Amino acid sequence: MASFSRGKPTAFRVNTLKAAVEEVVHRLRSSGFVVQPVGWLNEAFLVGAEQRQALVRSVEAEEGLIYIQNPSSMIPPLVLAPRPGQHVLDLAAAPGGKTIHIAGLMENRGKIAAVEPIRTRMYKLQTNLRRFGVTIARTYLTDGRTVGRKVPEQFDRVLLDAPCSSEARFRLDDPRSWAHWSLRKVRESARKQKGLLRAALASLKPGGVLVYCTCSFAPEENEQVIHDALEYFGQAVEVEVMDLGMGNVQPGLAGWEGRTYRPEVTRSVRLLPSHVMDGFFLCKLRKLASTRWLTRSGGRRR
Ligand code: SAM
Repeated sequence: MASFSRGKPTAFRVNTLKAAVEEVVHRLRSSGFVVQPVGWLNEAFLVGAEQRQALVRSVEAEEGLIYIQNPSSMIPPLVLAPRPGQHVLDLAAAPGGKTIHIAGLMENRGKIAAVEPIRTRMYKLQTNLRRFGVTIARTYLTDGRTVGRKVPEQFDRVLLDAPCSSEARFRLDDPRSWAHWSLRKVRESARKQKGLLRAALASLKPGGVLVYCTCSFAPEENEQVIHDALEYFGQAVEVEVMDLGMGNVQPGLAGWEGRTYRPEVTRSVRLLPSHVMDGFFLCKLRKLASTRWLTRSGGRRR
């Protein structure tokens, strides 16, 4: 509750595709910004909430040298850890903050497929990819739930930053931030997330890594979705332990409302909201064996 009512500082990541970290920080400080390092990521910094508007309008933001995003959003690409030359799928990509970060980690070498089904958001994604100098991404206007059938076992890494009820983004001073929330929205999101995660895992190569994340606190959108995928894919998928090296984390829940989840689900991480960070849920999955038999047979019924 306290984190929902306090103004958070504004965080940004220097876009290493276009500029050196020290140069950008020097430019911002010379323009009067009080820039503090986040501490756990070399290219991530904070300015006070009162400087947010000026930062949004700064030349550095305009030129795509910095991307303004909460520090929690910087974690999924780091956990995914894509390498230059790999083939990566970003299954829910707009407006592109994490696609840009992934391209940075890949030094613009390799291939990224960025999927987004909403046309207006796709335009925003494409504009951002251009502005931030991403040259290795191709965009696809399609429902992510279709990719498992279209391109089975193609990708070394898959990020599923799933559409969700956005509970972690509530602001007590802004009723619009929860205006669209309802239990129904949570249930609808969970249904979609389940389909997206199945497709995402089907499109992953054996041996590949997938990161699932949401900015929701609802177990139905988080642990339950992971549990369902583990039940569906059986031995072909495992949950990997993550060590984020941060204090504000809890393990995934072992169960919810009378349901007990598979024990591995507790290897997921709940990032608790703090005076700086938004809440987040993260799970790192590895595919151990081919699941082509599932896509060929049209999927098991459950
Ligand atoms: N990864 C993005 C970033 O870092 O900028 C934020 C993604 S946002 C949490 C979720 C996105 O999923 C939204 O842009 C939403 O339009 C998109 N989405 C909704 N339904 C989808 C579907 N069926 N398949 C793929 N993406 C979907």
